[in-house]
Amino acid sequence: MIVETQAVVLRTMKYGDTSKIVTLYTRQYGKTKVIAKGARNQKSNKFGSSLEPMTVSSVVFYKKEQKDLHLLSKSEIVTPMSRMQDDPERMFAGLALVELINMVMHDEEENGLVFDMLVESLRVMNSSSKNAVNVFLSFIVKIFHQFGFGITIDACSRCGRTMEQHQFAYGLLRLSDGKFTCSICSEEAQQSGVRLSGGVLKSLLFFHGNSLDRSVSISLSASMRDELLAVLQSYLRYHIDGVRTLRSLSLLQTMS
Ligand SMILES: [Zn+2]
Repeated sequence: MIVETQAVVLRTMKYGDTSKIVTLYTRQYGKTKVIAKGARNQKSNKFGSSLEPMTVSSVVFYKKEQKDLHLLSKSEIVTPMSRMQDDPERMFAGLALVELINMVMHDEEENGLVFDMLVESLRVMNSSSKNAVNVFLSFIVKIFHQFGFGITIDACSRCGRTMEQHQFAYGLLRLSDGKFTCSICSEEAQQSGVRLSGGVLKSLLFFHGNSLDRSVSISLSASMRDELLAVLQSYLRYHIDGVRTLRSLSLLQTMS
C-alpha cells in the first residue's frame, strides 16, 4: 500500500554505503521506520535535507503489512527548522524532544494530538530568540495530561489551598498520581513525595496553564531548569517503563 503523510524525523542511521534507516513520527501511522535508499549518495540524493532530525516533512512510502521497515519513495520539507543549528540550547532542546518521542511512543500507534504538539513545539523552538528549553518543559507537562497521568498542582490535595492564594515554600509531589501536598500539610501530616521548591511549583503551574508559544516568555535559572528536568524525568520514568535519561538533555545541562 502506498501512503502519504506528514512526519517528523526522529532519528537516522547509516545503512549500507549510500542509504539511511530513518525513524519517523508520522501523523497517520505513529512511529514508523523507513529505508531511504540513496539518501547518503552525494550525487543523486532525491530526499535533499528532508531527512535531518527535527525536520517536518511530507513523506510517501510503501507500507507493507506485518513488516517493521518500509520503503521511502519521496520526502519533501514542509517546515524547515533552519535556525535550530544556530544555537546550542535550541538544538539540544529540539533533539531532546525527538529523543523523548522516539523513546515513549509505540510503533505504528497513531496520535494526532501528540503529532501536532510535537510540530508546534519544534516550530516555537526554531523561532525562539531565547529559552528554547522551556518549550521542552512545557511539552512534557502537557504530554503527561495527554497520556492520562497529568500533574495536578493548582491546589493542595489535602487542604485545597491553591497556589494562587498561597506562596508555598515547597510542595511534595506524589509520583503515583501526580498530586501535590503543600508545605503546611506536609509538615502537619508527614506526607511523602518528591520535594519541589516553591519556584519549581510556580514554573510547573505556568507551563501547564500557558501555550507552548508563551512558554519562552519566562527565564529560568540553570538550577531551576535542572530541578524541573530532573523531577519531570523521574515522573516520566515512574509511569513509563524503560525510559532512560535523555542524552540531549545531559548535553544541554553541561553547557551551563
Ligand atoms: Zn495543604
